[in-house]
Amino acid sequence: MERSPVVFRIPMRDRFRGQSAREGMLIHGPAGWGEFSPFPEYGPRECARWLACAREAAFEGWPAPVRASVPVNATVPAVPPERAFELVRRAGCGTAKVKVAERGQDFAEDMARVEAVRDALGPSGRIRVDANGAWSVDEAVQRLKALSRFGLEYAEQPCATLEDLARVRRRAGVPIAADESIRRAEDPMRVRAAGAADVAVVKVQPLGGVRNALRVVEACGLPAVVSSAVETSIGLAAGLALAAALPELPYACGLGTMTLLSGDVVKDSLVPVGGEIEVRRPVVDAGLLSEFEIESPLWLRRMQEAAS
Ligand SMILES: [Mg+2]
Repeated sequence: MERSPVVFRIPMRDRFRGQSAREGMLIHGPAGWGEFSPFPEYGPRECARWLACAREAAFEGWPAPVRASVPVNATVPAVPPERAFELVRRAGCGTAKVKVAERGQDFAEDMARVEAVRDALGPSGRIRVDANGAWSVDEAVQRLKALSRFGLEYAEQPCATLEDLARVRRRAGVPIAADESIRRAEDPMRVRAAGAADVAVVKVQPLGGVRNALRVVEACGLPAVVSSAVETSIGLAAGLALAAALPELPYACGLGTMTLLSGDVVKDSLVPVGGEIEVRRPVVDAGLLSEFEIESPLWLRRMQEAAS
């Protein structure tokens, strides 16, 4: 029997995008549960794609996987070095993504954090940094050269614009990944045409679901790193389905984010084991869902606006 949509609120272990909790809605249909959890600043037009992803999960299901597990990176927020070390050790992944350029922090803190992550991973581990577009071209070039001492797999969105990403890509000597530059289906093609990145970070909710995202990645031709929007295991399952269905998957994906949340709505959370997440689709646990369920007219309105 189908259930009516449920709004959830799950506290985060560390602040993320300025938020202390992750909120969203879960919708249920004949194919299972889907998650609709656009970030607070997104308007109805953007939210429509996030809703399409939730509806695909609930009413259609996903294409068949071509692999049984997906390698993932550990995610390190803008925390002190000791905490970064601990997060990476606890995750047990061979790749870590480290937040840098956090507002209110200085570059010495970035250096210390990345160094701690290198210590935690050992020499064979891979480190990618994510500046969320915060640096100027000169800052990015200078800082990426300094961070290269610790060995970088790539730098995610060092600058905000495509033009600046292309400039940094030519000068920094580090491969560049585009993340914030990819929010709509046409963006990966623009990234490629601008020579702005070597890697496309793709998220299944903003790209409108697994099928749409597969088409976008194929048309773009850049290697894809499927990342989460810090969803519950219900939303993560859609990203996992995308990563599992991509013909090529040369990099670890950013789907190992369950550790950022203090709880989940399923019992068998999509957490990495030995650096990989098994491709599967967990089901909502009624007891856990009621623990995190909130009343929120705001979310009902957001979904209505996204649907119209
Ligand atoms: Mg990013």
